[in-house]
Amino acid sequence: MFCALRPAVLLLALASCAVGASTPAIAPDALLAHVKFLASDELQGRGNGSSGLERAADYIAGEFRKAGLESGGEAGSWFQPFEITTGVAIGGHNGLTIRAGGRTVRLTLGESYYPLAATPSDAVTSLTDVPLVFAGYGIAAPGFKYDDYATIDVSGKAVLIFSHEPQEHQRDSRLNGTRPLRETTLYQKALAARSRGARALLVVSDPSHSTDEANYRAFPIESDAEDHGIPVLRVRRNEMAPLLQALQLDATAAAIDRDLVPRSRALRGAAVDYTQELGARRQTVRNVIGILPGADAARGEEAVVLGGHYDHVGLGGRFSSVPERTGEIHNGADDNASGVSALIEIARAAAGDRPRFRRSLVFVAFAGEERGLLGSSYYAAHPSIPLDETAAMLNLDMIGRFRGRVEVGGLDASDPLRAEVDAAAREVGISVRPGGPGAGRSDDSSFVDHRVPALHFFTGFHDEYHHPGDDWDRIDAEGTARVATLALEVAARLAGRDDKLPFTSR
Ligand SMILES: [Zn+2]
Ligand SMILES: [Zn+2]
Repeated sequence: MFCALRPAVLLLALASCAVGASTPAIAPDALLAHVKFLASDELQGRGNGSSGLERAADYIAGEFRKAGLESGGEAGSWFQPFEITTGVAIGGHNGLTIRAGGRTVRLTLGESYYPLAATPSDAVTSLTDVPLVFAGYGIAAPGFKYDDYATIDVSGKAVLIFSHEPQEHQRDSRLNGTRPLRETTLYQKALAARSRGARALLVVSDPSHSTDEANYRAFPIESDAEDHGIPVLRVRRNEMAPLLQALQLDATAAAIDRDLVPRSRALRGAAVDYTQELGARRQTVRNVIGILPGADAARGEEAVVLGGHYDHVGLGGRFSSVPERTGEIHNGADDNASGVSALIEIARAAAGDRPRFRRSLVFVAFAGEERGLLGSSYYAAHPSIPLDETAAMLNLDMIGRFRGRVEVGGLDASDPLRAEVDAAAREVGISVRPGGPGAGRSDDSSFVDHRVPALHFFTGFHDEYHHPGDDWDRIDAEGTARVATLALEVAARLAGRDDKLPFTSR
């Protein structure tokens, strides 16, 4: 049973409170108010590098202050700035021209082509009159006795290929039935071309996907490209159609589909001009840090970190579950306005009951999570309280869809954790399922990498994950408050232990 009493009435009522927990309950409506703001259209999905993210950071800092925390960032501020690559900076000199089969096709960046891979540089890169060859589906899979590169030299050339793989819908295909080959991934196709000396790879939708599903207009909005060492360009089937027709490449693809005999070939007189001016867009983003100093002089130099990321995927792009809807605001109410709102209310509850927390609590709202846990790795390298003195980390990421239970991952990071979490769960009256998304999925793993035991609280995936539909009206505020209360109780137990938690090596 959880004793849900406010501090003001607590002294009078203490005798009747069976479990003796003196922390006030977390108010669902307060929590939901934060979610509504952080996940509002005004904040544009809190993309890294956007002004919406900066507004969210200012809001969180203000709320940490109101909750009674002290600033824990750089130079006495609430913020810990760091620089990340947020995308591609598009210069004025970009263009692609393909000449083949007596036709010339001129393609425009963000309309009829875009780079899936580019090596960002400050200089303008140009390839002029590079011979073009056709390499089927661009697949080198000797293990399946299929190699589009077996009979063609692509060194110094630009390579035109189809997307996907032959016989992709054929159950009895010797190319792994209907399951895609590993060699069909873009990464492997780029590697196959580059390792054979190709200078560029052009990818066009294969004939079985004649409606090109790529979103060319999204590139200027959420420009992003991997670096695979050579330009890898997605080119639009519509514009390429006359050229494919003249070279009879769709017919060639159909023949490959029938007998799995590669038909790669040089294209007489075919050549490519490509100009690229794409730099890395580097921007400063900020972790937000507030501290509740420990009540115990002997323990106050030690910390329990409570964290959760406040960035999300903005207007979509390659991190969206529906990249074709890039341009729509991905509000990220569950991911992770829910966790950050909980952090704020946990801070308020803990500050109102400070004697219970012998170790200091460090609250960190991380930026850069969606781009690879960048904020938490930066914090781990520049902690407010050294990681040697950090007893544990509790991470809240996606806790807004409570369906009767919460998953808690990382319980095996230290032997006493299971018992502490079980005891806290009994006190709060919440059902806990051990597990969770696992290593590398969220910011807790940045701490585990440094041998700090870290727990991950999570209420499960859903259809609106990284989707424009992850909105505040689907948040279960009551349930989120219960998960937050569990995290608060676990934090109180870990902050109050005599010993520091031993890290269990695995
Ligand atoms: Zn998340
Ligand atoms: Zn996410």
